[in-house]
Amino acid sequence: MPSAAELKEEILRLKEERSAVILAHNYQIPDIQDVADFLGDSLALAIKAKETEAKTIVFCGVDFMAETAAILNPDKTVIIPDTRAKCPLAGMVDAGGLKELKEKYPDAAVVSYVNTTAETKALSDYCCTSANAVEVVAAVPNKKVIFTPDRNLGAYVKRFVKDKEIILWPGFCATHDALTADDFLRLKKLHPDADLMIHPECRPEVIDIADYVFSTGGMLKHARSSPKKEFIVGTEKDMAYRLRKECPDKTFYAIEKAVCPTMKKITLENILKALENMGPVVKIPEDIAEKARLPIERMIEIGRGSRTG
Ligand code: SF4
Repeated sequence: MPSAAELKEEILRLKEERSAVILAHNYQIPDIQDVADFLGDSLALAIKAKETEAKTIVFCGVDFMAETAAILNPDKTVIIPDTRAKCPLAGMVDAGGLKELKEKYPDAAVVSYVNTTAETKALSDYCCTSANAVEVVAAVPNKKVIFTPDRNLGAYVKRFVKDKEIILWPGFCATHDALTADDFLRLKKLHPDADLMIHPECRPEVIDIADYVFSTGGMLKHARSSPKKEFIVGTEKDMAYRLRKECPDKTFYAIEKAVCPTMKKITLENILKALENMGPVVKIPEDIAEKARLPIERMIEIGRGSRTG
């Protein structure tokens, strides 16, 4: 059984040999963060996937992220090391139900969080990420918006966009939705000087007690620029590893129960295997990819201003 250090060395060697680039989400385990060429939130990773000159992208994240990279880059090979890494939030929208809602509100634009399947994106007018959801919904010309799939992110957008009727799809991220205000109040009591940074997939009552509401990229930007020395990280626990690495002079308190099990399906072992086999390759039917491309391109266009990594 090779050690983590041996696996990492072999991944880095094979990655060079294959001229591949490894993109990894901020929720990946520390060992994977260490071998990544680029780390980021979904928006930053989508932009990076588009910009990279590498012909092969090994995507260490969940299905919808790798699919987004594949849709944006039909000329590149996108590999996901474990096809079981499926985001349950993305799985909460069914195409039939969304079509019915569109028929009920024919003049509404559909804004879908990037955490959706390619099929849902193909039925959407715009995509957004947690970094630019408010900007995207505000920029939509329609007065009515169907927002899928995350009800908590949608409720957060509603706080800022008052001149539109926003119809929420009842989905949620089980990892963020399980975090309670008490979880954070306890940490805040232990670390009263720490800034409490909360991800907008958390429940409204958690948002209410936040000092700041940020995507993971926003958390990083804030931690880098803030004069504060301590931060409570209100999102998946491995984000704290990224923050500690980037800001070694500051202290970050993670919430240990905040674990995304599907992100953890990606391992050093299956990354190495993926590089050896050059697969599994992410494949999207061309008719769906073509329809899904426009809402993603719109998201990137609106999101360039909020690029944070
Ligand atoms: Fe999906 Fe939540 Fe995991 Fe993100 S943290 S990949 S939204 S289940």
